[in-house]
Amino acid sequence: MAAELEAEVPAFDRSLLECSAEELAAKWLQTNDLQKEVYQHLAYYVPKIYCRGPNPAPQREDLLAQQVLLGPMEWYLCGEDPAFGFPKLEQANKPSHLCGRVFKVGEPTYSCRDCAVDPTCVLCMECFLGSIHKEHRYRMTTSGGGGFCDCGDTEAWKEGPYCKKHEINTSETEEEEDPLVHLSEDMVARAYNIFAITFKYAVDILTWEKENELPGLEMTEKSDTYYCMLFNDEVHTYEQVIYTLQKAVNCTQKEAIGFATTVDRDGRRSVRYGDFQYCEQAKSVIVRNTSRQTKPLKVQVMHSSIVAHQSFGLKLLTWLGSIIGYSDGLRRILCQVGLQEGPDGENSSLVDKLMLSDSKLWKGARNVYHQLFMSSLLMDLKYKKLFAIRFARNYERLQSDFMKDDHDREFSIADLSIQIFTVPSLARMLITEENLMTTIIKTFMDHLRHRDIQGRFQFERYTALQAFKFRRVQSLILDLKYVLISKPTEWSDDLRHKFLEGFDAFLELLKCMQGMDPITRQVGQHIEMEPEWEAAFTLQMKLTLVISMMQDWCALDEKVLIEAYKKCLAVLMQCHSGFTDGEQPIVLNMCGHSVETIRYCVSQEKVSIHLPVSRLLAGMNWLSVSFKISHRTKTLCNELSPPMLIEHPLRCLVLCAQVHAGMWRRNGFSLVNQIYYYHNVKCRREMFDKDIVMLQTGVSMMDPNHFLMIMLSRFELYQIFSTPDYGKRFSTENTNKDIVQQNNTLIEEMLYLIIMIVGERFSPGIGQVNATDEIKREIIHQLSIRPMAHSELVKALPEDENRETGMESVIEEVACFKKPGLTGRGLYELKPECTRNFNLYFYHFSRAEQSKAEEAQRKLRKQNREDTALPPPALPPFCPLFASLVNILQSDVMLCIMGTILQWAVEHNGYAWSESMLQRVLHLLGMALQEEKQHLENLSEENVVTFTFTQKISKPGDAPNNSPSILAMLETLQNAPHLEVHKDMIRWILKTFNAIKKLRESSSTSPVAETEGNIMEESSRDKDKAERKRKAEIARLRREKIMAQMSEMQRHFINENKELFQQTLEELDTSASGVHDNSPVTSDAKLTALGPEQTRVAEHRQVVMCILCQEEQEVKVDSRAMVLAAFIQRSTVLSKNRSKTIPDPEKYDPLFMHPDLSCGTHTGSCGHIMHAHCWQRYFDAVQAKEQRRQQRLRVHTSYDVENGEFLCPLCECLSNTVIPLLPPPRVLFNRLDFSGQPNLAHWIKTVCQQIKALYLLRDEDCASNSEKMDELQLPEGFRPDFQPKNPYSESIKEMLTTFGTATYKVGLKVHPNEEDPRVPIMCWGSCAYTIQTIERILADEDKPLFGHLPCRQDDCLTSLTRFAAAHWTVSSLSAVQGHFCTLLASLVPNEKNGNLPCILDIDMFHLLVNLVLSFPAIHCQDFSGVSLGTGDLHLFHLVTMAHIIQILLTSSTEENGMDQENTSSEEEVAVLTLYKFLCQCTGSALKEISSGWHLWKNLKAGIMPFLRCSALFFHYLNGVPAPSEMEVSGTNQFEHLCSYLSLPNNLTCLFQENSDIMNTLIESWCSNNEVKRYLEGKRHAISYARESNKLIDLPDDYSCLINQASNFSCPKSGGDKSRAPTLCLVCGTMLCSQSYCCQTELEGEDVGACTAHTYTCGSGVGIFLRVRECQVLFLAGKTKGCFYPPPYLDDYGETDQGLRRGNPLHLCKERFKKIQKLWQQHSITEEIGHAQEANQTLVGIDWQHL
Ligand SMILES: [Zn+2]
Ligand SMILES: [Zn+2]
Ligand SMILES: [Zn+2]
Ligand SMILES: [Zn+2]
Ligand SMILES: [Zn+2]
Ligand SMILES: [Zn+2]
Ligand SMILES: [Zn+2]
Repeated sequence: MAAELEAEVPAFDRSLLECSAEELAAKWLQTNDLQKEVYQHLAYYVPKIYCRGPNPAPQREDLLAQQVLLGPMEWYLCGEDPAFGFPKLEQANKPSHLCGRVFKVGEPTYSCRDCAVDPTCVLCMECFLGSIHKEHRYRMTTSGGGGFCDCGDTEAWKEGPYCKKHEINTSETEEEEDPLVHLSEDMVARAYNIFAITFKYAVDILTWEKENELPGLEMTEKSDTYYCMLFNDEVHTYEQVIYTLQKAVNCTQKEAIGFATTVDRDGRRSVRYGDFQYCEQAKSVIVRNTSRQTKPLKVQVMHSSIVAHQSFGLKLLTWLGSIIGYSDGLRRILCQVGLQEGPDGENSSLVDKLMLSDSKLWKGARNVYHQLFMSSLLMDLKYKKLFAIRFARNYERLQSDFMKDDHDREFSIADLSIQIFTVPSLARMLITEENLMTTIIKTFMDHLRHRDIQGRFQFERYTALQAFKFRRVQSLILDLKYVLISKPTEWSDDLRHKFLEGFDAFLELLKCMQGMDPITRQVGQHIEMEPEWEAAFTLQMKLTLVISMMQDWCALDEKVLIEAYKKCLAVLMQCHSGFTDGEQPIVLNMCGHSVETIRYCVSQEKVSIHLPVSRLLAGMNWLSVSFKISHRTKTLCNELSPPMLIEHPLRCLVLCAQVHAGMWRRNGFSLVNQIYYYHNVKCRREMFDKDIVMLQTGVSMMDPNHFLMIMLSRFELYQIFSTPDYGKRFSTENTNKDIVQQNNTLIEEMLYLIIMIVGERFSPGIGQVNATDEIKREIIHQLSIRPMAHSELVKALPEDENRETGMESVIEEVACFKKPGLTGRGLYELKPECTRNFNLYFYHFSRAEQSKAEEAQRKLRKQNREDTALPPPALPPFCPLFASLVNILQSDVMLCIMGTILQWAVEHNGYAWSESMLQRVLHLLGMALQEEKQHLENLSEENVVTFTFTQKISKPGDAPNNSPSILAMLETLQNAPHLEVHKDMIRWILKTFNAIKKLRESSSTSPVAETEGNIMEESSRDKDKAERKRKAEIARLRREKIMAQMSEMQRHFINENKELFQQTLEELDTSASGVHDNSPVTSDAKLTALGPEQTRVAEHRQVVMCILCQEEQEVKVDSRAMVLAAFIQRSTVLSKNRSKTIPDPEKYDPLFMHPDLSCGTHTGSCGHIMHAHCWQRYFDAVQAKEQRRQQRLRVHTSYDVENGEFLCPLCECLSNTVIPLLPPPRVLFNRLDFSGQPNLAHWIKTVCQQIKALYLLRDEDCASNSEKMDELQLPEGFRPDFQPKNPYSESIKEMLTTFGTATYKVGLKVHPNEEDPRVPIMCWGSCAYTIQTIERILADEDKPLFGHLPCRQDDCLTSLTRFAAAHWTVSSLSAVQGHFCTLLASLVPNEKNGNLPCILDIDMFHLLVNLVLSFPAIHCQDFSGVSLGTGDLHLFHLVTMAHIIQILLTSSTEENGMDQENTSSEEEVAVLTLYKFLCQCTGSALKEISSGWHLWKNLKAGIMPFLRCSALFFHYLNGVPAPSEMEVSGTNQFEHLCSYLSLPNNLTCLFQENSDIMNTLIESWCSNNEVKRYLEGKRHAISYARESNKLIDLPDDYSCLINQASNFSCPKSGGDKSRAPTLCLVCGTMLCSQSYCCQTELEGEDVGACTAHTYTCGSGVGIFLRVRECQVLFLAGKTKGCFYPPPYLDDYGETDQGLRRGNPLHLCKERFKKIQKLWQQHSITEEIGHAQEANQTLVGIDWQHL
């Protein structure tokens, strides 16, 4: 230990190391005043260890502290060497069964939806995986930090409280055992002593506020060293802090970022170290700079000794936390020490002291002691209770502190409430013993002080500070929720008493809300300022669950319910006394009924949406039904008359109606929003729903006629219906159209309300239903609108306090699940039989939903060939208490209303009526008939049907009107031409009416005849149905056929030009056949792609159309250039070595591609063709537009014009250059003379001579050495002075240069320079690389090589290959010749080119392409009669042989016992011979292999990709069609390939045929130093076949990733948890994204970790998974990016971006493959472009900082 330290801290006070822990502990054991001894020790040593300079040195400090400070304490505690003491303690310990693992930020947590007592009960991953719950329905979330695993807490789980690890051993006696019995008495005493001293020391120093002295300690160091300490606040931004620091303490930006990051993380950081003056100065600058807009940053100048002791104080707390981990006994002692009351009485224990100064401590200190509390007090069953009491007693104070503090709640001690209040036994105890409910509510009320004169909350004009406070105070509601979340199973009198006391307080709270934010209708002028409404609704929303839970509690105990009911009623009466203004009552008369009511107009007086007291009463009223105490409550209600009960809810509903009628237009948006939330799923349970219930309750106790009259009056419609012919006045007096419209809407709304009052009986207690019926009905109506995804349904349904909707238990009964495809999500579809439960006037439909549902349902019925009537469904009966509600339907006033409206419809001459009015009346009629029918059907002997609706509507109206009966009017309307839409419904009503009549008559007659009739009818109907079905089937097939044709057409639309071109081609084909007689073109003949035997193909005229000017043009060498839009990008998709970077692109030589393919240049195209000049014009216009736009708006676009980027004008595909279209280039230079072609050896010799000549000539050029000329013997026919004429038109030449330069610029990331000799190399390279990528994609998908590429890729490869072959014509001839010479020299060595890569380090396909495409530069000067094709063939054979050697050298053939045939084939023998020769050449360094079978198998597999690439290459180069056998997958592909490529099937024959030259070449290859080093195992080499790169493997279960990410810490800020861990899907690196800590500089700009990573891993392109967000991120360059759906789906086929829902997520392999394919196809950039074009907000994101 000491040696280590010496090395670490040479500059340290040596005396520190001489301090012996053992001796000191011995001294302490002797002393009488331990505290004094320890304090002296600390006072002396702590300042010597901590805070010795401007920057903390945590490692050094920790080491010294352990040695000098903590060591002695551990010795003292153990009474021996702690190295032995602690393990002993641990062994003797009987650990508790609580897991208690404290969660890190981002760690996954699991809650079981079946067994958790509430959703706050969670398990850590380890416990979860070992528990029974992993088989249950569970929810997964990521922890925000804090909180701990509840495994082992029997109160938290209904079932399976223990995981396997924490399972109780049955032999053990459970709990209750005092853990101290496992410790010796001595140990207990010592632990007590040392804990008491150290804990007190830590608490004292941390809560110390003086700047120049220490608590109970001497200031040993009096030196003038101070720190300027900067504290965290939540007011100032990172940027502000960084900026200020740079100014105040003169640091670099980097240092400032470091300071700011630490301040944000730890809560404070010293930013300056020095004398007092020096620090004060910095402080004043910081304060001055930050005090302008807001309160200044907190800065404090502190003496270094104080900071030192505080640092050690924190260390001590952490130490205590780890020490008690050894033994539950020690933990108990610490708890005891902590909670022991001090000398100052109440609140003087150490725990109290810490809690009460919580808001004064900095973040880091809070974190440390919160963690200690969690691992001590909350883990000890006995002390948890005592601590809970302390917490509850301090509750008010803690909350007040929290209100004043500005830190987030997770950093406040107040946040511990979730750990305490959610424990059912503790919550219950705190309610009864500490009156916690009342405390919480009172505290809450105390903090909401803004009230109006009536004592109601008032949020109007509240300041930002108040708003901030209001947000914080809401957490108290959460506490209340926690306390109530587990309901009592039994009630004690104490609990009843205290609950009701809390209920009183709660009513006080609701009373302050009843009638808050009242509004008055604005007439004339629009309101000037939108009134504040959100606060009131936030309050309502937050309280919604609490109100429901209060009701649930009441419902559990009859006594409580009655008392609560009384209290609620009393409070309501108090509220009302403030409302009713002593207006004179008025009397209403209609149809012989009369009722008295107050005069009140919603449109003229104050009205409020907030009526929580009434609604609470409504809730309790129907609860009381279950206790059958209705009679008692009825008597209670008498004190408040039913009309009074319904008054306020009715006003509220009328307000909604009037808003819909447009009467409140001038009150602005705030009102519209309020009405929206009133109905919204988040609030409606305790708002709208309860208002309906209240109406139902009140009305059930009233005469329906009276109610309807009052209602008419409140709707301000009384006049219209009570005065005969009032309606006519509207039309005749030519009233204001607005008013007519208004009244119409009001009538519609009123009818809707009646429908709801009578029809809404799906709440248990109101109708005879159970809870599942209610939820089923909600789902049915949601799915009636359209099929929905699981999450959509969840959103549309109300959640209870456990975040459950109850949906899963019933969904199967009403819906079928349809799985998702590659995109989209799984959907639930309504089962057909459920549509009969559809109610068009379902009360939770919004207007839009209603009309969508109507449309959908009518359409469905039409499809099923049913009539389109949507009659009301049959309803469950009401509970007895509400049964009288149905009488509304047959009441006189109702009949009068219906009659009047029907009358309007019949007369139909411009009266003010509307179709929806009629539709509602028809619906009401339908409801009444359904009701009567059900009554009749359920008729038992003794009952008399009192519901006689049919009779009533058959009667004509009374005098004096003498209006016709309702029935008669319906019959008239049935034939009205203007009511076509409603005919089906009227017909249904009449039919039902007749059925009922029959039912009434037939109750005595036999029902048999009727059934028979029914059967008859049915069978004919069946026939009918069958016929219709058949017709429908035919229609469907026809439709499908048309659809298929359409989609086919669509698919071809984009390629229209191509189609056109092909058509022309075919025509030309037929006419041109026979022109080239010497070419053996027959489809049966063997097709050969290259060489002298190359199959001659007819030259096609190629005519294409420009997408810009629509003009057609032929592609010819001498015409204007046509171009393809193209996108060039650097690529590492094929890379086998991602760590490799190009050091200096200016000097980099790309001539040889390394076989690791670490960076290639890929070219892609959308296949759209333009004139070169049309494109140029287009691009110039885009450029000009962009420049104007950038000046004006300074916004990014999805493409970077300055980099030459543009969008294809047709398909908007991202492009950055164009490829010229060319005729096959080889034809121009190929002389077709086949006689006397040289063999390989001869050819090589000739070419070498030519090369030598060229070298000499060039030497001559610089040296003008004429002597050398004599040496020069020009090979026969070689004319090096010949300059070939460029055959291309100027415009084509220009495009050749354009594309070449673009490839060079992008590929090397350099400035464009068309003269650079590397330009042609880059062009060839891009051609080779692009072919390689496409070959890989085809291979990975198991597709045949030819005939399966999309047109755009086919076109792109053709153009790219032809371009690459033609490019030499625009570059310097000597440069290209030089390239060829160097390339050839790598295989055929000469004395000029030394230092070339060995054959192990050359990608042979790149070499082949480069050689073949540079060869014409030499060949064009050769007039000896050797064909270009001969050269191609020899080059190909040569490279192929080199590749074979390469494969054999690097092959890792293992001679495993695979079954092999006994008889060795010719190939196997030959390859074995070759291998033996290789062994010879390498001096037997090669592994001995005796199996030709294995060698041949390996060789074949290894060379396949090369052969396939070569086939593609020569196909596109020479245009020889591929044999049809190669367009299908088959076993003989190897033979077909060889034949197409002019190779012998037995590849090794090549060597035998050319043994004269090959043996020498092989020897020279093998003698290379690098090859030797490789064979000696001193270096690595790529072996073949190279496997395709894939994205990394992802785990099936998403939580594995979350766990992995939570263990990941930021690599730069020392063990800190990363906030946005992001996984590179290409290489699997985890990154710390979107954070200052990991920003780096890239090309002079600060970029985030992801962007930086893309430059090394993906040459600018990246695919990431943002683990916390569950989102895929695509990045390209610094400015482009988009988000993409992750490949993880839940069981309902949905992704969960942002991990909000928490359903278990599993990998969807198909979707992941799709992402992988995007990557392999180089389509990421394109995908980003499309996403950004579709969603402009993506353009604005600072992608580079991710
Ligand atoms: Zn656990
Ligand atoms: Zn466990
Ligand atoms: Zn479970
Ligand atoms: Zn054009
Ligand atoms: Zn395009
Ligand atoms: Zn990577
Ligand atoms: Zn970081």
